[in-house]
Amino acid sequence: MSDAATSERRRARLASVPAVERVMSMHAVQALTQAYGRTQAVEAVRVSLDALRAELLADVDADVAASAGGDADASEAATRYDAQIVARASALLEQRARGHLRTVFNLTGTVLHTNLGRALLPDEAVRSVIDVLTRPANLEFDLATGARGDRDDLIEDLICELTGAEAATVVNNNAAAVLLTLSALASKKEVVVSRGELVEIGGAFRIPDIMARAGARLREVGTTNRTHAKDYEEAINARTALLMKVHCSNYAISGFTKSVEIDELAQIAHHHALPVAFDLGSGTLIDLAQWGLPAEPTVRGTVDAGADLVTFSGDKLLGGPQAGLIVGREALIRKIRKHPLKRALRVGKLTLAALEPVLRLYRAPEFLAQRLTTLRLLTRPATDMHAAALRVQPSLQHALGERYAVTVEPMFSQIGSGALPVDQLPSYGVALRVATARRGGRALVHLEKGLRELPRPVLGRIADDTLRLDLRCLEAGDEAAFIAQCAELRL
Ligand SMILES: *Cc1c(COP(=O)(O)O)cnc(C)c1O
Repeated sequence: MSDAATSERRRARLASVPAVERVMSMHAVQALTQAYGRTQAVEAVRVSLDALRAELLADVDADVAASAGGDADASEAATRYDAQIVARASALLEQRARGHLRTVFNLTGTVLHTNLGRALLPDEAVRSVIDVLTRPANLEFDLATGARGDRDDLIEDLICELTGAEAATVVNNNAAAVLLTLSALASKKEVVVSRGELVEIGGAFRIPDIMARAGARLREVGTTNRTHAKDYEEAINARTALLMKVHCSNYAISGFTKSVEIDELAQIAHHHALPVAFDLGSGTLIDLAQWGLPAEPTVRGTVDAGADLVTFSGDKLLGGPQAGLIVGREALIRKIRKHPLKRALRVGKLTLAALEPVLRLYRAPEFLAQRLTTLRLLTRPATDMHAAALRVQPSLQHALGERYAVTVEPMFSQIGSGALPVDQLPSYGVALRVATARRGGRALVHLEKGLRELPRPVLGRIADDTLRLDLRCLEAGDEAAFIAQCAELRL
């Protein structure tokens, strides 16, 4: 075919692409305009038309190479493309309307997964958040006196009741709680910390860095594995502002070790008229051992042991929203509250609305394992996950076909978020392996991607040529949705 004939065919093909205005007047597109507004609809139609033109040109070139038959009548072709254009525009609009923050299935086996948003809120908290976000609330208004109030007042008594502390304040997260505590109490002074507790929590939270940001001088004592009372004693001088203890939440040292417990450290501090602060990290409000979970120091126990200040997260074991709680001696909390950083790190009404109902659940510990989502997930019996795995397995196997083998297997869940990193909770789930290929590495990665690209992405854990989906966090309400979604899997 001559060059002239080719460009003639190109021109004819492009002429068959409908004009924007004609597409906009189509019934199906008017529905899109109604749903998304004209501006967005026009833009989506333009993009679809551009894509169609590019495809047609590519087609012509391919046809030329294959010397395929002549063009259909232009008007006939135009109608043929209509459905394609509408479908593309509609998909585009739908995709753009979908938020970037999306819900997923957390089947990683890590209950408090920092990258997946940590603790899930119980219904009470969700209802409270909706209420307070859609109506005015007394965030900083004292309803008893009609005067201006402090947002901490809303929640301080409850925190004190649950922890035995004299006073409490709440900030954006626990990193902020530590930064604020050090800034308010130890700026330009020394803080004594054991070398065994200079931890990195992840996400660039390192105790020495926070210390520097707060303008405090870190006075390291002891060694990585052993720190003694006399190490602290010897480090105390006129510039010392604070002794600090950090809970080794995300690692464990075993073997020849020694650390100074909080009660002994408090005695040393108080003997020198100094306060002691304890960064508990995941601090729990209640003894988890009563549910057969590994013991973690409680906030109340730490306060009782003499800690003058305790900092901990709201969205780890506590099971609430992202927040950092600081509890302790009234005089110290007052100083912390007055520091200018408090204003910068304060929580919004969303956080307070979620936190209060979660804390209130702790007043009835006998219902906690049912009502507090985090605790319910952590205490879920393995038999539950086993039954769920037996229900999920057939749909998943059907969706995956013969290429993959889906088996029900025992696995181990983790608490996550740095809490009790060594302890694992017996669970059940489905293990996905490549059945056909001898080495299934690529096929497994392909499967992982397929699951991740589902409307509600499914996230598991790959190890030893196996993709494991731990069903601990797939509760009854979500199980049906998960099973239904299996049919949409495209590999
Ligand atoms: C998790 C953790 C933090 C940081 O808490 P965030 O709420 O994530 O800011 C600080 N210290 C310790 C010991 C922790 O475990």
